[in-house]
Amino acid sequence: MTVIDKTTTEFIDDQAIVDTLQACQDKSGSTVRCIIKKAFELKGLQPDQIASLMHISDPELLGELFQAARQVKERIYGKRLVIFAPLYISNLCSNECLYCAFRAKNKLVHRRALTQEEISVEVKALLDQGHKRVLLVAGEAYPQEGFSYILKAIETIYSTTNGRDHIRRVNVNIAPLTLEEFRQLKQAKIGTYQLFQETYHRPTYMAVHAGGPKRDYLWRLTALDRAMEAGIDDVGIGVLFGLFDWRYEILAMMQHIRHLEQRFGVGPHTISVPRLEPATGSDLASHPPKPVSDLDFRKIIAILRLAVPYTGIIMSTRETPNLRRESFALGVSQISAGSRTDPGGYSKTDYQASQFSLGDHRPLDVVIQDIARLGYIPSFCTACYRLGRTGQDFMDLAKPGKIHMHCDPNALSTFMEYLLDYASPQTKRVGLALIEQVLEQMSPAASKRAKAMLQKVESGQRDVFC
Ligand code: SAM
Ligand code: SF4
Repeated sequence: MTVIDKTTTEFIDDQAIVDTLQACQDKSGSTVRCIIKKAFELKGLQPDQIASLMHISDPELLGELFQAARQVKERIYGKRLVIFAPLYISNLCSNECLYCAFRAKNKLVHRRALTQEEISVEVKALLDQGHKRVLLVAGEAYPQEGFSYILKAIETIYSTTNGRDHIRRVNVNIAPLTLEEFRQLKQAKIGTYQLFQETYHRPTYMAVHAGGPKRDYLWRLTALDRAMEAGIDDVGIGVLFGLFDWRYEILAMMQHIRHLEQRFGVGPHTISVPRLEPATGSDLASHPPKPVSDLDFRKIIAILRLAVPYTGIIMSTRETPNLRRESFALGVSQISAGSRTDPGGYSKTDYQASQFSLGDHRPLDVVIQDIARLGYIPSFCTACYRLGRTGQDFMDLAKPGKIHMHCDPNALSTFMEYLLDYASPQTKRVGLALIEQVLEQMSPAASKRAKAMLQKVESGQRDVFC
């Protein structure tokens, strides 16, 4: 087991957060507008500025905040939205997270760890829908073989084929690992390692994690350090909103982000914004201690977009279609779609208890059509990670705005693949019209590159990327 370096554990400064929240309550028009102007420089925001934005309540200023987030999002990410599906391989768990259906003592859930064959069947079901990126998810207890179960599962996912299709990027959301295990995860060629601190507020953390290894706050807090030390460039961060005051959580998460930036030269690749949803056998999940309203949730996304402009924001199917639609304009850059949160959920028709309730049950094709009608390009792109454009290399392209030259053509070519191979006739019609429209709006260089790639896809080539 790695010895935790003390210097890496002292980056959540509780007092500084409380002081900033107390001190920075100036939400006057002049202050807010000055902060928004600063945000347009795309260099991020300081804690005092973030705290001021949190206090906005005037509808006009809120409108200006949302508008600014929309503009920053479009400047950096354009109109693309990356699509993925979670793949739950096991709900065995030794923890007692009071908000989760998979917690050890919950007898209402049938326990199951998929075999490698069953994982392969699930992957085929996802490929059949048109997915190319999955997020492997598991509880914190592995079958007899231990951690190698996860490594084998990743191998199974990558090696499963459906015709000529295969999953091109596997991201992972599993419990904190040792440095050595993270090294093995890196060797297994994962994309992003994702881990949510759930709450940075220690007393709340101890109260909601009633048993199991997850009670070790620091082991979890330092997990992304170990992942990055092990060479995993892309890490994902997150808070489970509803457990504690969201304002505190955002400032604490910013401290975590700045710590990673200082230590590794680059911060997290993504931020997830899960909100507590009802879960079988959990009173806490149905009665969040600090519920986050829809309006505050939209504020959270907009503030994060301005505070860390180059970090992707992930929105899951926990939220309803309407809220998801609104969030695209506010800063979300990746979404899950057509999700199931029970192991075996994609290939089985019988109902198993999910980890939590979903707000968006629509199949992938319906989500894709909806997104396209709104003018966003659904992207199944996996190019950056496969070409080694991760961590600092990704940021070096993203910050001067050069990533557009890759992202937009890659989004279009992967979207075209989807339309030709998997879309319903109606989605295909809507999607092809969108592609035409987007090509006209692109810069001449990007449009030329995109057209050449689209031609290849239309003539039968697949997995065309730059
Ligand atoms: N078991 C690992 C862990 O806890 O880190 C990884 C997977 S866990 C299944 C993924 C995430 O689901 C957790 O980090 C938590 O934030 C989220 N989650 C658990 N219960 C939830 C609920 N009732 N509503 C929304 N999200 C929930
Ligand atoms: Fe287990 Fe993760 Fe659920 Fe906690 S959140 S009970 S660790 S699956």
